[in-house]
Amino acid sequence: MPTILERFYETHQKSAELYAGGQEVVAGGAAQSRVMYPHPFYVGRGDGAVKWDVDGNELIDYLIGFGSLILGNNRPEITEAVERQVRNGTHMGTTTPHEVRWAELITGLMPSAERVRFTASGTEATLLAIRLARGYTGKTRLVKFREHYDGWHDYVAIEAGITAPYGVPNETRSTVAVVEPDPDALEKYLSQDSDVAAVIMEPTGAHWGQFPVQNPHFLESVREITQRHGVLMIMDEVIMGFRVSRGGAQGKYGVMPDLCSMAKIVAGGLPGGAVGGRADIFEPMGDPDPAKRFVHPGTFNANPVSAVAGIAALEIIESEPITEMADAAADRLKNGLRNALTKQEVTGHVHGVSSIVHIALGVEGETNDQDISQVPHDQLMAATSGRKIEMLKLAMLNEGVDMFGGIGFMTSAAHTDDQVDRTVEAFERSLVALRDEGYI
Ligand code: PMP
Repeated sequence: MPTILERFYETHQKSAELYAGGQEVVAGGAAQSRVMYPHPFYVGRGDGAVKWDVDGNELIDYLIGFGSLILGNNRPEITEAVERQVRNGTHMGTTTPHEVRWAELITGLMPSAERVRFTASGTEATLLAIRLARGYTGKTRLVKFREHYDGWHDYVAIEAGITAPYGVPNETRSTVAVVEPDPDALEKYLSQDSDVAAVIMEPTGAHWGQFPVQNPHFLESVREITQRHGVLMIMDEVIMGFRVSRGGAQGKYGVMPDLCSMAKIVAGGLPGGAVGGRADIFEPMGDPDPAKRFVHPGTFNANPVSAVAGIAALEIIESEPITEMADAAADRLKNGLRNALTKQEVTGHVHGVSSIVHIALGVEGETNDQDISQVPHDQLMAATSGRKIEMLKLAMLNEGVDMFGGIGFMTSAAHTDDQVDRTVEAFERSLVALRDEGYI
């Protein structure tokens, strides 16, 4: 019986060759987040909830474009809109009518977005939101919560869990304060620092809720505390926007931030991002006095190809039960994973809101009625790091399932019951393989 690693090597030979080539020319071998132990695999095609790698392995996809593809891979309306636009031109060097339609859809769906401004990525969206907040308040400091990931630019690369502050100047670091994700800690910090422009946060907790916000009043508390201290609240909706509800986390939990950053689903699976929020905060972008105007250039901002993909996606999300379908797939998956753990007598904890599923092997615990984990973050952290996680990812790949980094799954409206059930069976076989090899 081959080991997990032997099976992976055997079925990923073309990927291994490509990676060998990549190591000669691509820094770090491949784009970050794609590198994995023992080597990444290369995918040629995706359709619905399935994708095929260059070695011919068929995989049920739970990365779904790092969360961009809530409609699944290759949704026909999006593919057709993009094809049409590419034939009409990929860049006009002006704006296009699509920018207006795209912004109308976003302001219609995202409750706090009175105005929208487009960027080329989520990282650029948080950068723009922070710049707007600093300009509007005239204050310097950004408060972020420990472990929260809001992109990779200098201001948010500090204590973000997956990005190191490599190359970030101390001067920049001193403009950012990292606070524990807890209302009392925020209150305490804001009481002693009067130079804070904004608080930025992942609304359901660090790393798409891997370390969830456990206090059910956290968002409301952050809203109340920031308002009282004259600090802007930036809700980073890059993953949660148009996923946990049509109106994102702000729509689901009924808490209005001053600004929100968006990306991924908003651009229908193409590169793109946006900032939405209170109209008055955006006013300097339209200031008639050039000396006072906040100029925000960007070659690919609101580019027509991303715009038509975003419009197609948002029109479907607006009119069809997409978030509900993705949620239902995740519920089925969570139940199945829990049953598999029980059946195999493996200690593990499954949690996550809406269409997000997190798994922590080796820790037991409760979730509340929204499937939010009540396990302390340090225990979740210990259970979701190390070789065991990498081996779970590999064991699942061997079984035809591409998990999100061995720590979870994101579902889409394209995941069928049959695919979810096959995922659960794959998980059960993976648990057996992990146990046989002593990883769990
Ligand atoms: N914020 C959050 C919450 C994210 O998850 C991400 C990307 N995973 C970003 C910001 C950055 O977006 P992008 O990768 O498009 O730059």
